Amino acid sequence: MGIMIREIQAKSVLTRSRIPGAAYCVNAYVGCAHACVYCYATFMKRFTGHAEPWGSFVDVKKNAPELLRRNIRRAAKGRVMMSSVTDAYQPLEVKYRISRQCLEVLCEHRFPVDILTKSPLVVRDLDVIRQFEHIDVGITITTDDDRMRKIFEPHAPTVGARIETLRKLREQGVRTYVFIGPVLPMDPERLAESVRRHADAVLISGMNYPSKTAALYRRHGIAEWLDRAYVDEMIERLKSALDGMNITLC
Ligand code: SF4
Repeated sequence: MGIMIREIQAKSVLTRSRIPGAAYCVNAYVGCAHACVYCYATFMKRFTGHAEPWGSFVDVKKNAPELLRRNIRRAAKGRVMMSSVTDAYQPLEVKYRISRQCLEVLCEHRFPVDILTKSPLVVRDLDVIRQFEHIDVGITITTDDDRMRKIFEPHAPTVGARIETLRKLREQGVRTYVFIGPVLPMDPERLAESVRRHADAVLISGMNYPSKTAALYRRHGIAEWLDRAYVDEMIERLKSALDGMNITLC
């Protein structure tokens, strides 16, 4: 799928957050080329006048680092989530480096940060990440099965690449967590085995908007995963297989 890219001047970048544990969010982009079919952030289309399908456009907030530098001077210190309605390390970040520059500003001002991404590109910024006093880096891994990843997260990095990213970050002394959400069709024990050594904590979340993806489950013969009781049973298996770890259900 071709991506429509637009460079824009944002009006604000350090936005107040209602996410538990995060005072602010920084989103360097509008839209996300990872194009996950369950993405909760599609509501951004309404606010930004995009009629194109989610995943087919990205607006680049070219002035985000400079704006952040201005905004942060007046802001009370608080935890910053990167990011909430886009992936800070989606492919365009290779070229634009906007998330990296925002991270540098947050680091200079000693703001605590929580990065959540699906992308190995985050490892590029290890030199900045290591300078933070308080930073957590989460990798979203929703299944152990790359066939499921292709169905639900068609343009996001493979499951293997994400596990490897988690491993590298932890090996470099970064505090990591794995976000297993939304729980997609998986072998819970296999997923637990592949991530448990590489994460300090685990967050687990079910599918929040099953109606968005119900047809897809049926088309691929995995409709049992639409049954809440079945998913709850799988989450219980996941929790047992991750026993001893710091697990939060959200
Ligand atoms: S990576 Fe996150 S923001 Fe991007 S499409 Fe997937 S769920 Fe949405």
